[in-house]
Parts: sequence; C-alpha cells; structure tokens
Amino acid sequence: MIIFLVIILGLVVGSFLNAVIYRLHASVSFIRGRSYCPACKHDLGWWDLVPVASFIFLKGKCRYCKKNISWQYPLVEIGTTIAFLLLLLNFGLGATFFVYLFYASILILVFTYDFRYYLILDRVTLPAILIAFPLSFFVLKIGILELLIGILIGGGFFLLQFVVSKGKWIGGGDIRLGILMGMMLGYKVLLVGLFLSYVFGSIVGIGLIIGSKKKWKSQVPFGTFLSLGTFIAFILGDKIISFYQDIFLL
Ligand SMILES: [Zn+2]
Repeated sequence: MIIFLVIILGLVVGSFLNAVIYRLHASVSFIRGRSYCPACKHDLGWWDLVPVASFIFLKGKCRYCKKNISWQYPLVEIGTTIAFLLLLLNFGLGATFFVYLFYASILILVFTYDFRYYLILDRVTLPAILIAFPLSFFVLKIGILELLIGILIGGGFFLLQFVVSKGKWIGGGDIRLGILMGMMLGYKVLLVGLFLSYVFGSIVGIGLIIGSKKKWKSQVPFGTFLSLGTFIAFILGDKIISFYQDIFLL
C-alpha cells in the first residue's frame, strides 16, 4: 500500500517537475494558467496530463497538433518514481524520507535542466540552499561543523576551478550547486558524491568521445553528473565510506 502511494507520488511530482522545467525555461508564471501544448498552445485537459499513461496513449504526439511530445516528460516521471522508491527502500517512511524526497526533486530539476539547456539555474539552487541548511541540521541530524566544512569544500572546489580557468571549465552555477551539495550531504558524504560524479562524467565523456559524438573541448552538462552523484551518495554514501575505512584503515 505504501509502495503504491509512493509510486503515485513519484508520478505526480515528476509531472509537476516537468511543468516547472518548462515554465522556468519559457519564463512563464507558476501560479497562473493551465497546462498547454508547447507547440500549438492548445489548453490540455486532465486526460492529456496523466503521467506516462497519456504519453503512451497519445503515442508521444499532441492530441491537437500531432507534434511530438518530448521524451523528457515520461522519462522524468518514471525517473522520479524510481528515485522515490529507492529512497523508501533505503530510509523507510519518516521525516528523513521526506527530506530526501525534497532533495531528490531539486536534483532532478538540476539534472534535467542542465542536460537539456546546459545551465544550472540560480532560481533553483539559491532557494534550495536556504532551505537545505535547516533541513540537514534538524531532520537529517548532520552536525553543524560537518555542514559548514561541506559548504566550504563544495563551494571551494568549484570556485578554485572557476578562478584557475577564468570561468572556462565551469560556470558560476557549479559553485552554487557545490555549496548545495555540501549542505545536502555534509563534507564526508560530499567527497563520495563528488567522486561518483566525476566517475560518471568520465565514463560518459569517454564513451561519447569513442563514439566520436563529442570532442574533448565540447560542452558537458556537469550539473547532470553532479546531481546524479549526489543522489547516489544519499543512498550509498555511508556504505561507501565504511567500506573504504574497512579496507584502508583497519
Ligand atoms: Zn499541440
């Protein structure tokens, strides 16, 4: 029963995140207005907006203008649902679970937006930074010192690259995301999250170069890898740290 409810929640939140991504990109107000087709602007009814099911039923095309609907819609809905289920399995139902649901939703926004538009929006990261500190401290019980060091490392790591490369390797958005990662994870798990992000980035980067789709210098949506690494660090961070300590410190 709980699993069923979390699946429904994942689909609904995923659908909401799609709407947020669209509205952030098109600079449409959040409060006003119904959902409409981005191509023909026709208003959509609830039957067009059922997560995943509408996409399958409409065969990925708008009911009115027959233009293709982006694969982003069902993929984000399914991805959000999988992320929520993994968090439920790992943390069980409780306050911690809901904080991680919130964090995961922010990361899915960053992941998808950076993947599509190569941009990490301050309109997402800055409010999240303000909310994440009290949530991590009071609910996740991450110590104040661990959080502060996490912010310093997360922000400093990217600030350093930013300064050294004069803003060529990474953008200012990465620095804000680094700070947010430090606040969500604390510094110990942050190191795991950064490591995982670089591993994913390298694997995908090398894969793309071998497939000769990209050159070494082409733009990489780094926020996508960072948000994926952060999410996996939620679930595996502590396990990876104790595994590492078992091997090297005993
Ligand atoms: Zn349309």
